[in-house]
Amino acid sequence: MRFDLLTLFPELLEPFLRVGINRRAFESGQVDVRLTNPRDFAHGNYKRVDDRPFGGGPGMVMLAEPLQAALQAVQADRADGAPVVLFSPVGRRLDHAQVVRWADSAGAVLVCGRYEGIDQRFIDAHVDEQVSLGDFVLSGGEVAAMALLDAVARLQPGVLGDADSHLMDSFNPELDGLLDCPHYTRPEQWNGTPVPPVLLSGHHEQIARWRREQRLALTAQYRPDLLEQARVQGRLDAQDERFLARHGLRGAT
Ligand code: SAH
Repeated sequence: MRFDLLTLFPELLEPFLRVGINRRAFESGQVDVRLTNPRDFAHGNYKRVDDRPFGGGPGMVMLAEPLQAALQAVQADRADGAPVVLFSPVGRRLDHAQVVRWADSAGAVLVCGRYEGIDQRFIDAHVDEQVSLGDFVLSGGEVAAMALLDAVARLQPGVLGDADSHLMDSFNPELDGLLDCPHYTRPEQWNGTPVPPVLLSGHHEQIARWRREQRLALTAQYRPDLLEQARVQGRLDAQDERFLARHGLRGAT
């Protein structure tokens, strides 16, 4: 899969692509990330990429022309009709389902805005989809792009050491769609607090049951909406319901 980023600050992405567990995916080209700077497609001595907004007001607006030239260069190079995605507060909030869709795709062209945003005519002419990271304002789309690429890369086969470890993570509908259970490691006693004894028991069934119950309890507490979704989608069994009822944890019903 290939993701092309149009960004005025490619240097922000470079260290991100070289560090951590996802590095393998990026360096092997399993998730092929290419950086294109619209400034390289700007005209004149000053290589201008922004200008003052028509109608007045604060800040600067990214020019449509260098962005379009950069996009056309990328599109000519990859020639697969990949969707053009703009990071923007306008977009649908990024979630697990969207990440899975991108993780199974051939990739996209990701457009990172800066300043007050991008000339709307570029958006109208070229953008297929808008993605938001949440209801807050970033100073650029690069952080959103890193979030998407990070989440997509860790779902690629072989990227996490243990082939299936992402299956146990939060939000995974292939498991239960619930939040992950708490994790513990050495020492067995820390600051006077022991780890839950069941985890030292070596009893795999009991450990699995405890983890399941922790997922249920945490999700009931923090994300009752997800618990209800799991219930509606038939991912809670009678044993789960008994556990929830016993502890007065019913979720959003
Ligand atoms: N004037 C705009 C914000 C511009 S911030 C507004 O008020 O909606 C500059 C750029 O950062 C945007 O063009 C977008 O690419 C990126 N950005 C800001 N907030 C974002 C968010 N919540 N999700 C994704 N991208 C965001």
